[in-house]
Amino acid sequence: MPTVVPGILADQVKAVSNTALPASLATYAQMWAVGVKGPLYDIYFVETLGGPRTICFMKLYFRFVAGKSETWTSQQEMVGFATRWQADIQNKFNMKSLTTTSTGRIVGLEFHFGSGLYSWEPGDHWTIDVVKVPKGQFYTSNVEHAHGNIVGRTTLFSNDLGPITRQADNKSYRQRPAIHEFVHMIGLPDEYEEKCDADGMRADGFKCSGKPRDPRYVKDYPSVANLGERIRFDHLDAIRNWTKLVAPLSPVEKDRPSLKGITDALAFLKGAPGTDDKTPVMLAKLR
Ligand SMILES: [Zn+2]
Repeated sequence: MPTVVPGILADQVKAVSNTALPASLATYAQMWAVGVKGPLYDIYFVETLGGPRTICFMKLYFRFVAGKSETWTSQQEMVGFATRWQADIQNKFNMKSLTTTSTGRIVGLEFHFGSGLYSWEPGDHWTIDVVKVPKGQFYTSNVEHAHGNIVGRTTLFSNDLGPITRQADNKSYRQRPAIHEFVHMIGLPDEYEEKCDADGMRADGFKCSGKPRDPRYVKDYPSVANLGERIRFDHLDAIRNWTKLVAPLSPVEKDRPSLKGITDALAFLKGAPGTDDKTPVMLAKLR
């Protein structure tokens, strides 16, 4: 039996995130949690009735923007896009086994979202602008991380939930742009090689970033950070490593954490742009 710490998870999560808790988390009541607020997402390790989970929570502000020739026609259409975006991300990135704790328990990974359609709110991690474009047209979507007081911003186009086909070395790869952009929203860089002309411009009219790609992954075309949609083990290293640091804090685990482990775990994401200065709160004390 897991050790039950008094308090409802909904309240515990509120205490650190100051954001509305997704309805799906409310059913995890009466268990243990620890969490840290971050610029890309807030991250929690929780004990649920179904076992331990790492939860990445993003608060989003969707803005639906008219394109040159198209406008969003109804609220239903906009809500439909936001709902499908969340479901597609969860279907792709949630997993039953992110890692195992030192006592051998499997930790699942879940992404959860809170979103507002019509107003920015404190605690938002991302503004997601979705530009309406004619069916079948694709443009270069992009992700800018938070800097200073500016919240992170993702630009998508209305067709970005559908796949495009990309070619490399005489093979084709299918990728939904919204799925690819999400890897940047969790902090990963592109893996593909940027093709720049003499003026430092890409074929799509954007400036080349000039950032060298990691040569190990340049030809891993099926990868989600490259031209495909495969999630590689090391794409989740940051989340997995944090999980390994905090898991021993759980009263359900037999190991007791080292001081270094706790300090590192709670310092994760701290100091990054947009992070609260507030010391992360440890939600339940060890006995
Ligand atoms: Zn990219």
